[in-house]
Amino acid sequence: MKKFIRSLLVFSSVIVLSACGATTPDNAEDEAQSSEQASEESTDAASGASEQEEYTDPSELENKYDLVIVGAGGAGMSAALQAKEEGANPVILEKLPVAGGNTTKSSGGMNASETKFQEKEDIEDSNDTFYEDTLEGGQETNDKELLRYFVDHSADAIDWLDNMGITLNNISYSGGASVQRIHRPEDGSAVGGYLVEGLLRNVNENDIPIFVNTDVTKINEDNGEVDGVEVEIDGDAQTIEADAVAVTTGGFGANEEMIEENRPDLEGYVSTNSEGSTGDGIKMIEELGGQTVDMDQIQVHPTVIQEDGTLISETVRGEGAILVDHEGQRFFNEMETRDKVSEAITELPEENAYLIFDDALADRAKQVDFYKEQGVVESGDTIQELAQEIDLPEDQLEETLADWNETVDNEDDQDFGRETAMDYDLTEGPFYAIQIAPGIHHTMGGVKINTNTEVLDEDDQVISGLYAAGELTGGLHGNNRIGGNAVADIVIFGRQAGSQATTFAQENK
Ligand SMILES: Cc1cc2nc3c(=O)[nH]c(=O)nc-3n(C[C@H](O)[C@H](O)[C@H](O)COP(=O)(O)OP(=O)(O)OC[C@H]3O[C@@H](n4cnc5c(N)ncnc54)[C@H](O)[C@@H]3O)c2cc1C
Repeated sequence: MKKFIRSLLVFSSVIVLSACGATTPDNAEDEAQSSEQASEESTDAASGASEQEEYTDPSELENKYDLVIVGAGGAGMSAALQAKEEGANPVILEKLPVAGGNTTKSSGGMNASETKFQEKEDIEDSNDTFYEDTLEGGQETNDKELLRYFVDHSADAIDWLDNMGITLNNISYSGGASVQRIHRPEDGSAVGGYLVEGLLRNVNENDIPIFVNTDVTKINEDNGEVDGVEVEIDGDAQTIEADAVAVTTGGFGANEEMIEENRPDLEGYVSTNSEGSTGDGIKMIEELGGQTVDMDQIQVHPTVIQEDGTLISETVRGEGAILVDHEGQRFFNEMETRDKVSEAITELPEENAYLIFDDALADRAKQVDFYKEQGVVESGDTIQELAQEIDLPEDQLEETLADWNETVDNEDDQDFGRETAMDYDLTEGPFYAIQIAPGIHHTMGGVKINTNTEVLDEDDQVISGLYAAGELTGGLHGNNRIGGNAVADIVIFGRQAGSQATTFAQENK
């Protein structure tokens, strides 16, 4: 197969995640991320991420495949690899110049229960406990059938990745999980870059054609049977026939219009998402009569840089940072769930706040080095100097820090009832501030599927030949996604989509 080389913009973070930062159901995955530019800058210290991967030459695009996979994120590449393993000849079509999507940005890890790595470390977990934890996190609004399939196939997904040289054997606590369950690369670094690089390497080794700059604009059907897609590749339109189509185009966190349509209250929010997360798959499936669920369940993250959507990891608060308003005063329990902290910030007159922390915290939370490189961290040798830098009342900020340090000493937050992440005071200069406000983070709703990843129509009937997996689907997370479950979702249901679509294609040739 003729190939051409492109730079892979992997987010191969140097960030080592801190388990002690994970203290609430929502802060589970510690989703530090960056712009793609910064990602490239951090590849040196990455865990095994290569800088170059191969994509198929556009001239090799054929008119017919067994299985067309739309979108080259974690779900799409998992689907393709599983399909190939089961005898299909799939093709992956990706609209951006590189593979990875939101998957590249994920950093916390992948949840799984009853894994060999947990067993090795004598971590007692069960699929039932994973099920219960997720249900509790989603306030029992999760699709229980999808959830059952999900937990029961999580350990197998970890083994499958390991067999391909993608080893997630560093296990930690994450919020919402009652035991150590979040699986990360051996060195504790970000999962996303490592996973995308590993999947892409396997896609290449298995000679699975993967076309970038290939925008799928429509899913075709004939007499109720899906039979291919329309694409635009380098500006040219082309029809590609297929025995089955698996849609893995990710969520709609970067599509302002769709966000506003489903959640008018989130109008104008910045997004942490990849530019490819525009809900294309959801729209194309809706055109075919596909059903959607939970479209208004959009996860907002409270600490996002407004200029570029960079997410400030919850580890910073988990390690002891406080939030102050423009008066220099605390205003909320910083360790409350994402939705509540976000709301409290939005209710401030300026609709933004400052994360305040000291040098000792910056040492504990390695992410801060990256934020400093990004130029988003203000500093002062003393609290007074910091207050001057960010234009807050000096005396008030000093008083707030003094009160906070007393609160930590007494382990009693009488003002806001914070109970966790109070192990360290903020006394060691220099002192730091990062201005943040809420941002769109994850779209939990999407197209309705069954456990075979078959897409269902408004009458809950299967749309023949059409499969979907990953963030474009809805139901699994209910109204609150537990951190670490999205990466598990894309591998588990991505594989299932590859497998089921292959069986369908083989039976309906
Ligand atoms: C900053 C950040 C940090 C996160 N951290 C974590 C974490 O630590 N743990 C966790 O579990 N979850 C995390 N998440 C969530 C998780 O990363 C995503 O939900 C998941 O990776 C989505 O995978 P996917 O394969 O469904 O979609 P994506 O990875 O987004 O891939 C979809 C692909 O489809 C392509 N595409 C879209 N439309 C078309 C089209 N019309 N034609 C062709 N291609 C198309 C896109 O360009 C993209 O490449 C994080 C998310 C963000 C934004």
